Amino acid sequence: MTSPPEGSADLQNVVIVGGGTAGWMSAASLAHFLKSRNTRITLVESSQIGTVGVGEATIPPIMDFIRVLGLDEDQLIKRCNGTFKLGIKFKDWSEIGTSFFHPFGQTGQPLEGVDFSAYWLGRRMAGSASRLEDYSLMATAAEADRFTRPIKGHNSPLSQITYALHFDATLFAEFLRDYAVERGVHRIDAKVSGAKVDGETGFITALQLEDGRSVPGDLFIDCSGFRGLLIEETLGAGYDDWRHWLPCDRAVAVQSTRNGPLSPYVLATAREAGWQWRIPLQNRVGNGYVYCSDYIDDETATRTLMSSLEGEAITTPRPLRFTTGRRRKFWIKNCVALGLASGFLEPLESTSIHLVQRGLALLLKLFPDRNFARAEQDQYNAMLAYEYERIRDFLMLHYIPSKRDDSPFWRQVRSIAPPDHLDQRIELFRSHGRIFREEHELFPAQSWLYIFMGQAFMPRHADPLAGGLDAAVVDGALDHLKSLVTRCVASMPAHEDFIAAMPGVAAH
Ligand SMILES: Cc1cc2nc3c(=O)[nH]c(=O)nc-3n(C[C@H](O)[C@H](O)[C@H](O)COP(=O)(O)OP(=O)(O)OC[C@H]3O[C@@H](n4cnc5c(N)ncnc54)[C@H](O)[C@@H]3O)c2cc1C
Repeated sequence: MTSPPEGSADLQNVVIVGGGTAGWMSAASLAHFLKSRNTRITLVESSQIGTVGVGEATIPPIMDFIRVLGLDEDQLIKRCNGTFKLGIKFKDWSEIGTSFFHPFGQTGQPLEGVDFSAYWLGRRMAGSASRLEDYSLMATAAEADRFTRPIKGHNSPLSQITYALHFDATLFAEFLRDYAVERGVHRIDAKVSGAKVDGETGFITALQLEDGRSVPGDLFIDCSGFRGLLIEETLGAGYDDWRHWLPCDRAVAVQSTRNGPLSPYVLATAREAGWQWRIPLQNRVGNGYVYCSDYIDDETATRTLMSSLEGEAITTPRPLRFTTGRRRKFWIKNCVALGLASGFLEPLESTSIHLVQRGLALLLKLFPDRNFARAEQDQYNAMLAYEYERIRDFLMLHYIPSKRDDSPFWRQVRSIAPPDHLDQRIELFRSHGRIFREEHELFPAQSWLYIFMGQAFMPRHADPLAGGLDAAVVDGALDHLKSLVTRCVASMPAHEDFIAAMPGVAAH
């Protein structure tokens, strides 16, 4: 460790409020990336308050977080009752009785310079290609409850397997806590009652604890959950409420025993006033109903959830309230909000933990010194706002093209006018099935295609370039890919067997 030179503007004290997933991800990351500096990192959490206790499904970038920090993936899976995730299955979204998959990873390859999406769509519209899922190794494996890690050097789709994890949120925070504390993070279990703010600069100088202690710092990271103890209650960031775009505002969560095979995917089933998740862990299943309180009361939502569990409930149902949207600023002066303190989008595509990861990556790219340059904060705020907005648009696409009109909720969400950017995307797709991914955007073009197709939203015309390809050649390439995917999946073990064979994982 090197000490900062005398008079240096380097940060010496970083203070994190909150010990949920966001707090411990921040502590672990900073402990790793600031290890060669003499920065003291303190995390204050309150065991009396507890954490939100949900947030068990992730997306593939989490694997980079795990690798970069040098976390042991097998240990993590073992300690957190983890399972593998290849995507999300959506049931009853377009119409009751239909289902589709949004798998991770790439589907197909370009042919003579034409994107797979374009030529597949052309042949699908001509009535000759199968469902998009049939060409995806991840979707086909998930539907067969099979899994293997990518097989390096294998000249087949097996080398391209893209996955994420499901894990117990509480155990994941504990896993990261051990990592962070081992690397010198100082943990305080106490309630924060407020913060001292410098009257002249408006900067936070210290946390005040209920027991009378104070915790001074140079940089404060607010991971205190929905309330935003520092970013909102102390600094008044303000909140953009997006419920007019995504009206769900409550959830009820419960854990249950598992019946049936261990599926390597999240099941998201559309319901009368929202949707229900099912996340399989090794030892149990996480379930929840996300709903809009304008259309269903808490009791009915809880009853709906409890009556549709596949196994026995093993916890009491836990109600949660949220306001979809984001803080107007995520970084103000010497305070950065991460996790639920920064905003919330319903967990339909498991993006919240990812936004913590993105926030941390950006914070490290723009890591401040004690001068806290305004330009760095502006850059951070603009980039994260952009990410929130693009994810919001992607989530809205799960509702707007639906054909469901069996309940007031579905009639409302179908009729919501999309924000301009999403409207332009939908129109672009409607014309010739084209989708453009912008720089820094999380979801690739094929993710959008899977949702458009799942909602049976077809373009008016196929891409003219795809139409220029020889139809017999395209059909041959598609048939070849489909049978290759089928053969690869047949060679994969059952997800359950794969996990059981991992060293140190006890059979549940
Ligand atoms: C219904 C639902 C389902 C979700 N599903 C997913 C999912 O599948 N995938 C995903 O990526 N994300 C999901 N999320 C989001 C995910 O749960 C959160 O992003 C993640 O858990 C981070 O939460 P957090 O750490 O910001 O907040 P919390 O878990 O609420 O932690 C807040 C921390 O602050 C502490 N604290 C608060 N006040 C004080 C105080 N005064 N003094 C001291 N400490 C204090 C608490 O003790 C706690 O440690 C879901 C969220 C909800 C609501």
